[in-house]
Amino acid sequence: MTIGNIPKEIRRKPSRQAHVLLAYLPTTCLEHVTNKASCRRMLANLYHACVGHVLAPLAAAGINGVNMQSGNGAMHRCHPLFVCFVGDYPEQVLATGVKTMQCPNCDVPSDELGLAAGAANYQPRNLDAVLDALSALDEGGLAFVRACTVAGIKPIIHPYWEGLPFVNIFESITPDVLHQLYQGLVKHLLAWLSEACGSAELTNHKNEFAQMTTWLERREKILRHKKYVQWRLAGTTHHPHHHPQPPEMTFCRTQTMTKHPSVKAVTMDKIVNEYGATYFRKSLTRCIAKASLPINTTITPRQLEDRASDVYLPFQTLPVFHKVKWVSVDVHGQGDPQVTLDSVHARPGHSRPFTSDSVSS
Ligand SMILES: [Zn+2]
Repeated sequence: MTIGNIPKEIRRKPSRQAHVLLAYLPTTCLEHVTNKASCRRMLANLYHACVGHVLAPLAAAGINGVNMQSGNGAMHRCHPLFVCFVGDYPEQVLATGVKTMQCPNCDVPSDELGLAAGAANYQPRNLDAVLDALSALDEGGLAFVRACTVAGIKPIIHPYWEGLPFVNIFESITPDVLHQLYQGLVKHLLAWLSEACGSAELTNHKNEFAQMTTWLERREKILRHKKYVQWRLAGTTHHPHHHPQPPEMTFCRTQTMTKHPSVKAVTMDKIVNEYGATYFRKSLTRCIAKASLPINTTITPRQLEDRASDVYLPFQTLPVFHKVKWVSVDVHGQGDPQVTLDSVHARPGHSRPFTSDSVSS
């Protein structure tokens, strides 16, 4: 379990422990069950029983509320609810209980999947009818299976969302961006391109993306498991993911400039007129006047103005940097590579005077 407002640079690294381990789900394939259909049914029921067990506390907490402390220490009455399910299509099928090749959200016939939205008018799945069918479990196996078939779902015994408050699992399904958008799009593009330019033009790289993501996923799992094994071997009594102090979530950053200026010598006039730094000379002399004061001296703005007017600038041109970068600092000593967190690019405009609004990050 994790929360979405942790920067992904931290969250996606198992070594940073931005996740809390809730449970291990069984990975058994129930090989000893020879009947394939009943094996599949048992696996689905096992999954729902386990997830139901993990989410069971949400039923009372969602209705009655629980006290939770926010980052600033204030206590809030919170009602945690199951809101969305994130998973790939086979997982969506497993969670909702719809049949494979069906839409988990609506009752579109499977041969009309993929038609442009608006080409047909399909209804969202009817949760009430499904819940009614699920409660037919008391009336015996056959009646239960029949009721579920009519309602359009598989006969799952108490799916985990059945008793959770305010949940409509069919509306909780989120698009699977990796498989449905990215990989789906790449697949579509490859088919389209091979039709347009001939498959000879396309080298056989089409599996690389899928292979890459699988490899990454596996690597994360291995790392997570390794951490767990280390913790168990160490035999410590405290939970591995529990930190009395929440980890620092903002990036420590340091400002960096290029070694050489973008422009070596820019005249004061140009700085004022083309860079739009109208009060540059005034600001610079004020800055010099302030810097030349002994430490811990306080003077009035009027006095500062007077001193600034006495400052003589012994040059007519200045080097100008068009780019400033802020890079991360590895404060935790985790060996994190340095990344650019922010940068500002500024160049004199052509058509309109340069304003401070043009500086963006
Ligand atoms: Zn649909």
